[in-house]
Amino acid sequence: MKVLVINCGSSSLKYQVLDMTGESLLAKGLVERIGIEGSALTHEKIGLSDKFKLVTPMNNHREAIGHVIDALLDRDHGVISSMGDIGAVGHRVVHAGEKYAKSVLINDGVIEALKECIELAPLHNPPNLLGIEACRELMPETPMTAVFDTAFHQTMPPEAYIYALPYRYYEKYKVRRYGFHGTSHKYVAERASYLLGVNLNDLKIITCHLGNGASVTAIKRGKCIDTSMGFTPLEGLVMGTRSGDLDPAIVSFIRDKEGIHLHDVIDVLNKESGVLGISGVSSDFRDLEAAVEDGNEKASLAIKVFTRKVRFYIGAYIAEMNGVDAIVFTAGLGENSANMRSVICSDLGNLGIKLDLVRNNVRGKETIISRDDSRVAILMIPTNEELMIARDTYALARK
Ligand code: AMP
Repeated sequence: MKVLVINCGSSSLKYQVLDMTGESLLAKGLVERIGIEGSALTHEKIGLSDKFKLVTPMNNHREAIGHVIDALLDRDHGVISSMGDIGAVGHRVVHAGEKYAKSVLINDGVIEALKECIELAPLHNPPNLLGIEACRELMPETPMTAVFDTAFHQTMPPEAYIYALPYRYYEKYKVRRYGFHGTSHKYVAERASYLLGVNLNDLKIITCHLGNGASVTAIKRGKCIDTSMGFTPLEGLVMGTRSGDLDPAIVSFIRDKEGIHLHDVIDVLNKESGVLGISGVSSDFRDLEAAVEDGNEKASLAIKVFTRKVRFYIGAYIAEMNGVDAIVFTAGLGENSANMRSVICSDLGNLGIKLDLVRNNVRGKETIISRDDSRVAILMIPTNEELMIARDTYALARK
């Protein structure tokens, strides 16, 4: 069965087509600037060296998906001969609240439930829903699934997800920790278990998803028991542009001092903070590392604040799980920056965490990067959320 995986943002859409017989990637692509001047689709058939690029107005997600389907059917760049070749479509959906702890086949009831979750993820769920509705219109007979970022974290015990607020806010408004990047944390934990040759049920793992958005998760016996992101993806680690953990009193203090609205302060915490805010240089760690080379002290401070927080969570989760067997690094920064992994893992020998500096010099392939005498295995594992979505979709569609 061929599965189409769709990941919709407000003005962008990423997709992949996988053949689930051998879990091979057939094609992938990206539509940018949907509803904005200069809409463009870039499509790649795996194995062909040249990419197919289309620049044409795309007013909405339905038009964008129409062009994706045309590209998939294209004589030279396509990977299907008719729409019927797509056996199922898997949609990435950010927030399912407490409603779903697993991926689901989409029906009208699921759509309604996801609409109810919009207030929990106002930036993310609406474009996810647009993608689902567009695909349902264009492929009414094809089974579709929703795979949630929050689902994997639903196993957290109440003491990990309840905030120390009046309990009625949880009861009335469902204010609690949800966690995000769940598909990625689950994928790399499963790969770590495979690479180490140890059953997930016998492992305590800390997974560090360090990209533009970043989170750390504690996984005991294959289940998430705690994670650093919270009610929204703003909590936890310092990120590219997000503040992460903060004294909440700062919010009204800044509002009063700057004479701005509350929602503008939250905007600053989301878009102008993190390593960008501290350094004033960039949210991209490549730029920061280059700035450090040039002697920029604020860039250096930003990296130190960032790495300190990752270590802080690693320490906390070791305490929560009474130890750790494996630490996994993934996502843009976790996969590509040997330097960052080395700073995060430095001076942790007393906890049995010893990085091998030669093995650590790796990019692009799953590797164990700890020393042979390290009690804790350290791994670099490129994440693959699309494959997880395709797997769940294939399993549900076959039922
Ligand atoms: P993601 O959100 O997973 O796509 O990660 C994107 C982030 O990864 C970028 O903003 C960079 O900060 C970081 N990144 C990607 N490649 C590198 C690299 N070679 N060195 C350092 N950081 C990188």
